[in-house]
Amino acid sequence: MSENCLFCKIAKGEIPSRKVYEDDDFLAFHDINPAAPVHLLLVPRKHIVSLEDVTAADAGWLGRMVSLVPRLASENGCSPGPEGGFRLVSNAGKDGGQEVAHLHFHILGGPRPWQARLATLAS
Ligand code: AMP
Ligand code: ZN
Repeated sequence: MSENCLFCKIAKGEIPSRKVYEDDDFLAFHDINPAAPVHLLLVPRKHIVSLEDVTAADAGWLGRMVSLVPRLASENGCSPGPEGGFRLVSNAGKDGGQEVAHLHFHILGGPRPWQARLATLAS
C-alpha cells in the first residue's frame, strides 16, 4: 500500500470500483472513462509504479497477470478469434502518458469504431 495511491485504495476497497475480477494478487475493474466499448483496468494488489520498475524477479506474478488478460477480455465482451480480439496497453511515465502511478494494464476491445481518445491512450 502506498499512501494516496488511487489504485491501492481501490484494491483495498476504500474507493469504489466496478470490479469484474479479484484474487489474492490482482484486481480488475471497469475504467471510469472508457475509451472503447470494453475498457478494463487490471492491477496488481501490491504497489509497483510501472513496467519501468519490473525486473526478471517479477516474471512469475507478471506472467500470471498477463495470462489473465484473454480470459478477462472474453468474459467481459470481447469476441474471440481474428474478427474479435482486444488491445493491451500499459502506460509508463510522463512520456508514456501514465496518469496513475500504480502499474496497470488497459484491456480494450469491443466493436469498432472506438473513441478518438484512443489516439492518445492506445494507438
Ligand atoms: P493511465 O493514463 O494509463 O495512468 O490510466 C489511468 C486510467 O485510470 C485512465 O484511463 C482513467 O480513466 C482511469 N481512472 C481514473 N480514476 C479511476 C477510477 N476511480 N476508477 C476507474 N478508473 C479510473
Ligand atoms: Zn498503489
